[in-house]
Amino acid sequence: MPKAFYITTTLPYINADPHIGFAAEIIRADVIARYQRLLGKDVFFNTGTDEHGLKIYRKAQEQGVDPQTYADRSAATFDSLKQALTLSYTSFIRTTDPHHIDAAQEFWKRCQDNGDIYKKTYKVKYCVGCELEKTESELVNNCCALHPNLELEIIEEENYFFRWSKYQQALLDLYHENPKFVVPSHRLKEIEHFVASGLEDFSISRLKAKMPWGIPVPDDPDHVMYVWFDALINYVSCLGWPKKTEDYEKYWPGMQVAGKDNLRQQSAMWQAMLLSAGLPTSKQILIFGFITSGGQKMSKSLGNVIDPFEVATKYSTDALRYYVLAELKAFEDSDFTYEKFEERYNADLANGLGNLVQRVAKMCEKNGVMYDDNQQSAILESVKSSLQDYSFNLALENVWAVIKSADQRINQVKPWELPREEAESELTQLVIRLREIAYNLHPFLPSTAEKITQIFSGKIKAPEQPLFPRIAK
Ligand SMILES: [Zn+2]
Repeated sequence: MPKAFYITTTLPYINADPHIGFAAEIIRADVIARYQRLLGKDVFFNTGTDEHGLKIYRKAQEQGVDPQTYADRSAATFDSLKQALTLSYTSFIRTTDPHHIDAAQEFWKRCQDNGDIYKKTYKVKYCVGCELEKTESELVNNCCALHPNLELEIIEEENYFFRWSKYQQALLDLYHENPKFVVPSHRLKEIEHFVASGLEDFSISRLKAKMPWGIPVPDDPDHVMYVWFDALINYVSCLGWPKKTEDYEKYWPGMQVAGKDNLRQQSAMWQAMLLSAGLPTSKQILIFGFITSGGQKMSKSLGNVIDPFEVATKYSTDALRYYVLAELKAFEDSDFTYEKFEERYNADLANGLGNLVQRVAKMCEKNGVMYDDNQQSAILESVKSSLQDYSFNLALENVWAVIKSADQRINQVKPWELPREEAESELTQLVIRLREIAYNLHPFLPSTAEKITQIFSGKIKAPEQPLFPRIAK
């Protein structure tokens, strides 16, 4: 039986259209999933949409539709990323799915049975942008640092609370025993520091009279669950939990990927919830950096929002995937500019890979070279070791080194000057090299890899259109 591997993205909140930050997160998750499949693993890859909460409730009201209708539309838009970005996820969960609702209620009961849920009256400053409470120490000019234009709201009501404070030591032990629990290591240090400085229990319900758009709290018709509490549970409900399904038994615990604004929720809140409900904690959490646009945070008012659908349509999906993986840094903040995008596109895709494919295919066509061998290519050791550390850009650099050496070989040997037989044998070697490049590119640029393999199978013919037409400057 192949070994099981589970990976999940965060569930994007559906108050806005898919943005480039989430596109980058899910593209990276897709590379990991595809790579694990190449290694022969049986992969479960989850994504979906987070659909409850005040922000969605208001957004639907603004548009004059009921929240479910609004959610249905948004979920369809997010699911269309699958085709737009050539993603290979196997599960798309919506937090309004009936089986997720059942799972969230069962999860609540388990935490309650464990003595971790209690009621109290409280008053907090709340950022609707984050759907999170904000403590004084987190505020910048009395506003949320991530949403400086949103006024904080004061919530004062009786809510249910989750006993997060009880899990301080257990969380610190978890981090201590698993030095790679959070990657990169400076994010692990950050969360360790946060947890060590003391955890405050957090509210996990809302008064239904004020905000009905949530999962009903078991046995209390006046409350619905706080959106974060419900949404985090998707990572196990997508596997069929609480039923002892084959998927849950086989895949949990798994790997989670998230943006850096999710560090606390994924690596501390969710882990404490799992401990409370008696479930194994996650296996590993990758925390990615943010993407800026022209050096600034993206915002509608600045007009610098990068739309992943638009980029994929204009330049091709694999061009977008390449830029995200080769140019942007996964674990640090990095900047998206069209100038750099076109520069990398022309240098690496049009001139580098595309040109090599065209050149070799043309020579093969001229010499009538066939390739019928079904010999399986291998993953380069250098790609393996780069992906061990999730260094997507380094892995691609290693593939591009092979492309470069193939170019050099052609210039050196000049197959067109060789006698026919020697030329043929030289070209066959190049074909093998190109098929190896394609095999290694599969996790990163799946459609391109597929095209190259097609071109260099059977009777070889140069494609009529170059793989990546050069962008005129
Ligand atoms: Zn905020």
